[in-house]
Amino acid sequence: MRKQESVRSEIDLLIKNGIVYDGTGKEPFEADIGVAGDKIALIDKNSKFKIQNSKKFIDAKGLAVVPGFIDTHAHSEFILLADPRAEGKISQGITTEINGNCGLSAAPLYGEALEHREKDLAELGIKERWSTFEEYFRILEGREIALNFVTLAGHGNIRASVIGYKDKKPTASELKKMQALLQKTIDAGAIGLSTGLIYPPGIYSDTEELIELCKALSQKSGTSIFKLIYTSHMRSEGKNLIESINEIIRIAKEANIKVHISHIKTSGKENWDKIDEATSLINSARKRGVKITCDRYSYTASSTDLDTILPSWTYEGGAEEELRRLKSSEVLEKIKKD
Ligand SMILES: [Zn+2]
Repeated sequence: MRKQESVRSEIDLLIKNGIVYDGTGKEPFEADIGVAGDKIALIDKNSKFKIQNSKKFIDAKGLAVVPGFIDTHAHSEFILLADPRAEGKISQGITTEINGNCGLSAAPLYGEALEHREKDLAELGIKERWSTFEEYFRILEGREIALNFVTLAGHGNIRASVIGYKDKKPTASELKKMQALLQKTIDAGAIGLSTGLIYPPGIYSDTEELIELCKALSQKSGTSIFKLIYTSHMRSEGKNLIESINEIIRIAKEANIKVHISHIKTSGKENWDKIDEATSLINSARKRGVKITCDRYSYTASSTDLDTILPSWTYEGGAEEELRRLKSSEVLEKIKKD
């Protein structure tokens, strides 16, 4: 912040009479905020700065004045290219998004990973195609998006780029390729790895694969300016919730990496009572030194792709294959049984 005296004649916007929550977690306080250009140039606790000396003025009496919110769980990487104004977020006060969650990110997109996104990109009217984060960021910057953009690298992107949508374990050389690809995304600016273990192709991976990838991530930690993180839409958010939390704790320990559970929930009435065991599991891991955190929706609904309720073999090979299978009455009978 610059000195108050020198900026008095340069204030473009004065936000007066608000209660300021400055984002540090401190007690809120009454103050007038002056903005010059795109910077806060004045925090005036004594209301000395005169309204007539500012080009614009907002009376915030009875309102809270806060820095922009960070949406830590966004899925806007493609829609932002179609609509860079991001009004849905900006109008809620969100000025920074962390994208690339649940195993899906803007890049890398090679081979089957790119083919698989083709329909979404076409539907959004996005003409450009890219493979790397460097290429994607260049396109994104050209759009002059309204938000600050942060991203994780999607495990689904990396797996599909190397071995497609097959239900198989990676060979040693495929795993090496995946590790190298992950490390390249960190060099390009990604802040970690995300998995979506109920979605193809994440669903086809086992814990060992995730540990090996996270080891590659933790190797990279020294060279990154961020604390690299592994985030997960876990294998189960209901029936096998406790097992899934144990899996992520194991990954944290064996790969020595900070982990984060995305949108933790006890899905399905028969699982509601698991919340106490889930939180005590996380808390006791934290006490033992495991770096684990989680986030939670502020509402009791959730939404995802409808095919996640189908057995995983129905979508092996991608959406086209899945639709073809669903046309067979024999397959439908098998799905019902499963
Ligand atoms: Zn998710």
